[in-house]
Amino acid sequence: MERRPEDFSRVLSSMCTRPHPAARAAAETFLATNPGDPGTFPSVAALEDEAVSMLGEIVGLPEPTGYIGTGGTEANLQAVRVAKCLAETDTPNIVVPTSAHFSFDKAASILDVELRRVGVTDDRTIDLTALESQLDEDTALVVAVTGTTEYGRVDPIPEVANIAKEIGARCHVDAAWGGFHLPFTDHRWQFDHAPIDSMTIDPHKVGQAAIPAGGFLVRDEATLDALTVETPYLVTDRQPTLVGTRSGAGVASTLAALEALWPDGYRSEYERAMALATWLDDEFDSRGIDAIEPVLPLVSAPMDRSTFEALRDEGWRISRTRAGEVRIVVMPHVTRPQLEAFLDDLDAVMTQQSTDVVAED
Ligand SMILES: *Cc1c(COP(=O)(O)O)cnc(C)c1O
Repeated sequence: MERRPEDFSRVLSSMCTRPHPAARAAAETFLATNPGDPGTFPSVAALEDEAVSMLGEIVGLPEPTGYIGTGGTEANLQAVRVAKCLAETDTPNIVVPTSAHFSFDKAASILDVELRRVGVTDDRTIDLTALESQLDEDTALVVAVTGTTEYGRVDPIPEVANIAKEIGARCHVDAAWGGFHLPFTDHRWQFDHAPIDSMTIDPHKVGQAAIPAGGFLVRDEATLDALTVETPYLVTDRQPTLVGTRSGAGVASTLAALEALWPDGYRSEYERAMALATWLDDEFDSRGIDAIEPVLPLVSAPMDRSTFEALRDEGWRISRTRAGEVRIVVMPHVTRPQLEAFLDDLDAVMTQQSTDVVAED
């Protein structure tokens, strides 16, 4: 039996994309290496240092500490783990906006910390007044998101970080998806914009590295120390990562993608994707569909279940938000002809539905 993966021609709601050709080649070259054991695999460990320092440039951290792990979920979990380890209370809580990724639910459950959710304002960013009302002396971590999974919204990082600092809590920024677009916007979201302690940024999404490649970056070495355990039988004797054996492919492909694309390639991709998202928003509007205006290249538009299912039946690989909007993530593989074909199918479904309604009358 021939085994082949799906191609990306009808994938519109995923945050995965085709890796950059250089990233693909580097992944293959380093496939059998394990950066979790740098004493045995020093070559890939050296690549990881370079990759982390380039990621530091992207997030405004001149001397970054961190590592390339499995993805955003691991990085978010590690942020919660640090907060728990460094907390001065036995009953820590963490506060996240309702727009935060479900990985924080996993982290809270695994680490047994209380998860408090804060609502969002009309613009779908964290409600700062509600945030302040959720904090107390046991709050160990406040999380904000720059590029929310459902609407691509960017929380006000300086404000959130300052609120966290005032009560002595840590601040983590989840830029898993948005981190490779944001350097080309006016948003204030970086380590040099606000007193944030750690950040998630995923090379395997907009970064165009091969899966698995997630970035976890921290402001100071002490943070990573809090996560470090002793590793008795390896050549090096300490390890801050969550998993043991890690993907050398993810590390090498991250560096290859960064070298190929930072900054000009990512800038032109941001500009291309944002222009396409704005165009798509207008196309929805011209059909009487009140799409949510994109802030980053992600367009969510109200869509009833039958229309959504009809488009799924046409082979469109789309998903919906919790509120029932279709969610189009303009990733590097998403092109204008592809979106035109999608809109043609949408028009056909809408025409069919109105014919059905007339027939019922
Ligand atoms: C994708 C995403 C995650 C989870 O990352 P994985 O790499 O899928 O584990 C976390 N947060 C945000 C904002 C994301 O977009």
